[in-house]
Amino acid sequence: MRKMKIRKIPLSSPFIEKDDIKAVTSVLKTRWLSLGPKLREFEELFAKFIGTRYAVAVNSGTSALHLCVKALGIGKGDEVIVAPFSFVASANCALFEGAKPVFVDIESKTFNIDPEKIEEKITKKTKAIVVVDVFGRPAHKEAIKKIAKKHKLKIIEDSAEALGAEYKGRKVGTFGDCGIFAFYPNKQMTTGEGGIIVTNDKKIYELCLSYRNQGRNIKSRWLDHERVGYNYRISDIQCALGVSQLKKIKRILKKRENVAKEYTKRLKKVKGIRTPFSSTKDLKVSWFVYVIQVPERDEFLIKLKKKGVQCSNYFPPIHLTKHYKKEHGHKKGDFPVCEKISKTTLALPFYTHMNKKDMAYVCEQVNDVHKELLKKKSKIKKKKK
Ligand SMILES: *Cc1c(COP(=O)(O)O)cnc(C)c1O
Repeated sequence: MRKMKIRKIPLSSPFIEKDDIKAVTSVLKTRWLSLGPKLREFEELFAKFIGTRYAVAVNSGTSALHLCVKALGIGKGDEVIVAPFSFVASANCALFEGAKPVFVDIESKTFNIDPEKIEEKITKKTKAIVVVDVFGRPAHKEAIKKIAKKHKLKIIEDSAEALGAEYKGRKVGTFGDCGIFAFYPNKQMTTGEGGIIVTNDKKIYELCLSYRNQGRNIKSRWLDHERVGYNYRISDIQCALGVSQLKKIKRILKKRENVAKEYTKRLKKVKGIRTPFSSTKDLKVSWFVYVIQVPERDEFLIKLKKKGVQCSNYFPPIHLTKHYKKEHGHKKGDFPVCEKISKTTLALPFYTHMNKKDMAYVCEQVNDVHKELLKKKSKIKKKKK
């Protein structure tokens, strides 16, 4: 039998073309490397794409989340509701300000926060809900908004994974008091490092501008510090990349959707492997990662990696990370749906320019590993008899 050569397929890879390189190098020929015209251009273009009045670009998605919490005046003694099935920053942003993340379990279909379980966690201390659109699938915005309104809570949309995703035809990031996106190289578009806050609220906008830049008074002089702020600035070099990526975002999202479709076509026939939730009439997915569900996930992951297929266990439950167990008393069994899902999820290599040959290789390896594990399982069963 002809043996396929072992190849190395990365988990993700940024989509950088000639125009991106040109955009970055041309900024280097100007004297504006920070707080310059590219920053403004990026923010304006981004706000327009999402459909909000304002956007504030910062140095990471985590910084963007932090400034949302800060601008909403959330602090010591306050509680913030969030799902445990996410990237750790979604919960940590509350900790930065001395507030407490209160977890609410997810629903098994979309992996997003379960709206039916939110109200039982609301107390007098609850100030906000961080709504994550996990893996680029919009959360149940309407149901969540209704609850927030009833209990007078703020909404921060953590749409870091969902650039361009839509809930009932409206882009995520426009449903809350403020929302964030992120531009690490594994995201749909990148600025190397970076993040952005979007909002329609002028007060939040102005506070974020000030906090981003050492608490400066945004209208007055350079060294007029009104409050304690940070250096969360993003450079114009990064913003130039942001602009050139954003200009072709529709093409990027389409390409990613096609990669996801091709994967699903190849994998949906494999019995025992569950392919990811894709767009419905009301929920338009923006493809951040391609996550399948498999039994024996941990073994699956090791075996795939040995075959050169880089993959990952997105996401381990936040409440079961060391800090949250030790400092917040969380333990196994606290959020059973999240824990059950989290044991089965496996992110496959996924990027904008992934070609069919690489996908075919990945799917072949997935198939082989799956068969191998099934065989092993049936042998163990026979022995037991
Ligand atoms: C990527 C991501 C962030 C922000 O990450 P940074 O690395 O700080 O840019 C926040 N929340 C979620 C859910 C993410 O996936």
